[in-house]
Amino acid sequence: MTRNISIDGQRLWDSLMEMARIGATEKGGSCRLALSDLDREGRELFVRWCQAAGCTLSVDAMGNIFARRPGRGGDLAPVMTGSHLDTQPTGGRFDGVYGVLAGLEVIRTLNDHGIETEAPVEAVVWTNEEGARFAPPMTGSGVFAGVFELDTAYGLSDGEGRTLGAELERIGYKGEAACGGREVGTYFEAHIEQGPILEAEGQAVGVVTGAQAQRWFDVSVRGRESHAGTTPMDRRRDALGGAAKLITEVERIATARPPHAVSTVGHMQVAPNSRNTIPGSVFFTVDLRHPEDEALLAMAGELRAACARVGAEGGLEIAAEEMTYMPPVVFDPECVAAVRRGAGALGYGHRDIISGAGHDACYINRVAPTAMIFVPCKDGISHNEVESAEPDDLAAGCNVLLHAVLERARG
Ligand SMILES: [Zn+2]
Repeated sequence: MTRNISIDGQRLWDSLMEMARIGATEKGGSCRLALSDLDREGRELFVRWCQAAGCTLSVDAMGNIFARRPGRGGDLAPVMTGSHLDTQPTGGRFDGVYGVLAGLEVIRTLNDHGIETEAPVEAVVWTNEEGARFAPPMTGSGVFAGVFELDTAYGLSDGEGRTLGAELERIGYKGEAACGGREVGTYFEAHIEQGPILEAEGQAVGVVTGAQAQRWFDVSVRGRESHAGTTPMDRRRDALGGAAKLITEVERIATARPPHAVSTVGHMQVAPNSRNTIPGSVFFTVDLRHPEDEALLAMAGELRAACARVGAEGGLEIAAEEMTYMPPVVFDPECVAAVRRGAGALGYGHRDIISGAGHDACYINRVAPTAMIFVPCKDGISHNEVESAEPDDLAAGCNVLLHAVLERARG
């Protein structure tokens, strides 16, 4: 059933802009690192808004915040929707925040229209999604979904010796409730796309069907240091020369599999890193992603084959160690269909899309039926202070969220 009601786009926008003032940066972005004083301020604003909307607040041991609007059905599991309030150091005003405040806007809209739902509706804030201050990312949702142990998360350090657990306590968000085990009937997350596809195609809404699988490697190349002037070309064991061939190969591996495959060498160390010494050892990282497991395995296989070939050609010892594997995420078909129906019923241009990035929803998908809604962002740019989105698109995504929530909560 689709009710003929809409969210208040202006109120959503005003809330986004008010939240963006907390930790506002010079170039128009936001900096609210997880569990900093500014993160606390952002959380407090969200909590005040939820209390004003009549919600019951609870905080779990990971500092995840749940704001519940009760349903008629007493003990039914809630339809939950949200995202994160923490940002990158030079973050934007929409990444994460949009999903949280879209959830709040849904609750405010249900209140405006006096709509009762069978299941409770909850707006949620997940702790430390970005992983910028405490790696790895998506820690709050990860512990909730049983991916990480609570004590492991508490022990994460920010590089200045402060731990996640101590910082949770310091800002007053180490809650009483256990993290995880809380029943979730459905989880929806609205988010900016953080990529260029929706904008390029002029679509207002992305129906997210899943997220890419990822394999991360540490690659070390060992050659032999020697004099740049006196060593003939055919006598060299140049580790950086070998690494350069591998980087070209990494690029080819993804380029050969359009449109979904991507590959990145994002970090490199060269030793001794001296102008007139042939590099003796190189370390670099490889990030391979593809929505299908089989294709990703083939990409990893080609990387290993390239390491063996380049090593043999250049007299180099090359080791590629797989550090991280994230399986493909396939969202719940019924939840995805609810999003698609919402977009269709409201007459918004929409298309199915696969997330290239990780999101809290990727972990929550392991413990509850889950789907996501994407809206376009300007030039596909995110994790950047200039990150921007159109009020109309943000409102469209939130309206789709409202209708998907109503369908699943039986409003
Ligand atoms: Zn995000």
